[in-house]
Amino acid sequence: MKLIAGNWKMNGAGADLAEVAALRASLDETPAACRVAICPPATLIQRMAAAQTGGPVEIGAQDCRAEASGAYTGDISASMLVDAGATLVILGHSERRQGYGETDLLVSAKAEAALAAGLSPIVCVGETLAQREAGDAVEVVRKQVVNSLPLALAGQAFAVAYEPVWAIGTGLTPTLEQIEEVHRAVRAAMIERLGLAVAAVPILYGGSVKPDNARDILAVPEVGGALVGGASLKAKDFLGIIRAA
Ligand code: 13P
Repeated sequence: MKLIAGNWKMNGAGADLAEVAALRASLDETPAACRVAICPPATLIQRMAAAQTGGPVEIGAQDCRAEASGAYTGDISASMLVDAGATLVILGHSERRQGYGETDLLVSAKAEAALAAGLSPIVCVGETLAQREAGDAVEVVRKQVVNSLPLALAGQAFAVAYEPVWAIGTGLTPTLEQIEEVHRAVRAAMIERLGLAVAAVPILYGGSVKPDNARDILAVPEVGGALVGGASLKAKDFLGIIRAA
């Protein structure tokens, strides 16, 4: 079953969650043929998780600290996210790799911490425009996968998201052939790292997924779902993508 996950990023301040209620009402009426998740800012996790208990939407976080507790002002541990009601956590998003210098090694440590706390990680990888133009996309992504996935993930529930940096928030997307090429490389790298147990782990595509391109992208071999930014903020758009899955 495909996974359609919304990454709200730093949006939703003052939210009355009416959009989420509309989404839930629609999914209650006509259940989705896929798993649906929303990863709101940390401040909204508890409220949204409480409202979704037993409902059709899984709630996730957008990051966590690798350490379990301690003097890390401003940070949030994986077990705190579990306390709040999250079941998933996005890790290694390019906005964190670029904005906070997060390395593959750190992302791997975070994934291990998430797993230990009972969260299912969504580990993000993706090349920059310069890397794609240099013909290095597949190799860059392969290395990110091998180095960002801890061995502890073997046999566990997790996902990888391929998000080309140049496709995020730009309205640009790779061709379907390019998506397939990288997704096949991600699968091979996962198997190289963790063995055949990862054959069923979903590989999500992310980067300018919209209701009007979702059906084609989700039909590409090895695309196991989508990680959606901007289009996850409006119930109507997000539902359009969910219905395409
Ligand atoms: P957009 O869907 O806004 O391009 O964002 C993609 C993304 O970064 C999801 O994590």
